[in-house]
Amino acid sequence: MKPVMALVGRPNVGKSTLFNRLTKSRDAIVADFAGLTRDRHYGNAKQGRYEFIVIDTGGFEPTAEQGIYKEMAKQTQQAVAEADIVVFVVDARGGLSAQDHDIANYLRKLGKPTVLAANKAEGMQEGAQLAEFYELGLGEVHPVSAAHGQGIRSLVDVAFEPLNLPEEAEDADAAQQSGILKLAVAGRPNVGKSTLINAWLGEERLVAFDLPGTTRDAISVPFERGGQKFELIDTAGLRRKGKVFEAIEKFSVVKTLQAIESANVVLLLLDATQGVTDQDAHIAGFILESGRAVVLAINKWDAVDDYQRELVRRQVEQRLPFLKFADLHFISAAKRQGLGPVWTSIGQAYKSAMMKMTTPVLTRLVHEAVQFQSPKRSGMFRPKLRYAHQGGMNPPVIVVHGNSLEHVTDAYKRFLEGRFRKEFGLVGTPLRIEMRTSK
Ligand code: GDP
Ligand code: GDP
Repeated sequence: MKPVMALVGRPNVGKSTLFNRLTKSRDAIVADFAGLTRDRHYGNAKQGRYEFIVIDTGGFEPTAEQGIYKEMAKQTQQAVAEADIVVFVVDARGGLSAQDHDIANYLRKLGKPTVLAANKAEGMQEGAQLAEFYELGLGEVHPVSAAHGQGIRSLVDVAFEPLNLPEEAEDADAAQQSGILKLAVAGRPNVGKSTLINAWLGEERLVAFDLPGTTRDAISVPFERGGQKFELIDTAGLRRKGKVFEAIEKFSVVKTLQAIESANVVLLLLDATQGVTDQDAHIAGFILESGRAVVLAINKWDAVDDYQRELVRRQVEQRLPFLKFADLHFISAAKRQGLGPVWTSIGQAYKSAMMKMTTPVLTRLVHEAVQFQSPKRSGMFRPKLRYAHQGGMNPPVIVVHGNSLEHVTDAYKRFLEGRFRKEFGLVGTPLRIEMRTSK
């Protein structure tokens, strides 16, 4: 599971700026998807050798007694509780405030690993100006400038170093060697996740097997179906209880994100009686951003009439247009209807996500695409696409090499994507195309 970092601090110290800085590289990838709703409080970050989930907790008022502030404090407390590391952000220019002391006291009581970041420290000398922050009793003060991108890398290193995280995340190649398809069932509370999983686990065709290292109350279930090995990842809001999965009360965005991130394929479950809600769209946005393969299933199809069915169909098109590449199924977990085809789609999505594409084939496809329609000239520049190689799996990444490729339009990239998808029969996985200009 990816580690989690929570950003805590009073309003205006620069938490959102830091959040944006940490999550920036990933944002760029999904920026141009129309209809994509993202929860700006949660994001994926990659800095140096660390990949993690970062939470911006908003303005934190640890002593808030009522109303929206109390709600915010509650959210913050949940975020902090779920985080592996807390970054407490203070304002190096504004100096210490009473509120900073309150927050520091709160964090000290929690005993969570905490790193103190003094933001807005660009152009400041270490020493005099930062000395007062030692008064908070949280150890070393790390000067950073979120706005100018200074000190961020070393802040992240300092934050994660004591956690002794594994050197490298398991790469897709190694994951494929194991032959086990990691599957997460994601969705809001009450869409029917536990009903579906228990229906699956009750199937005769499904055979449980032992995975070394998993214990009885492990949070994942290994099983085999139709010759394919699976590992069902314990998802947000679900816990294994003996032989069955049960929904637990609280929905956790962090756990949802972690489950999505550690899966190869995510089955996103929606509730036909509710249609596509904001929360569904947020989760869908996370899945897209993570690059995981995805299958959509609208559950409780038994409980709606034709009018509602049509409505839901249209909502999916309008609100989740960025998941057009995913197969869509209408199912009833309770009545065990329509479940077979879901397995087929999961298998296809996995195969697509793990597709191996050779340089000669990719290069031929690029040349054919250019012959069919060459990229537009931009001022003095006409992009020249020379060759392509595969840069990754799950999601597949195709790296196109050539000259002036920064002038290739999004429309042309979509045209290329369509041709790649068709050639390799890719369904259910995002496909990333990167342009690399030779110097
Ligand atoms: P939040 O309320 O803690 O999320 O703070 P914001 O990220 O919204 O930032 C508050 C203000 O501080 C904004 O005007 C930012 O432009 C500014 N700010 C953020 N980071 C820096 C920084 O590193 N240096 C300076 N000088 N200003 C910053
Ligand atoms: P979870 O919170 O996502 O795990 O949702 P549950 O599996 O606990 O289901 C929530 C509610 O929806 C329960 O009352 C289920 O009986 C009901 N439910 C689940 N699947 C279906 C279905 O296919 N049709 C209908 N009509 N109800 C369902």
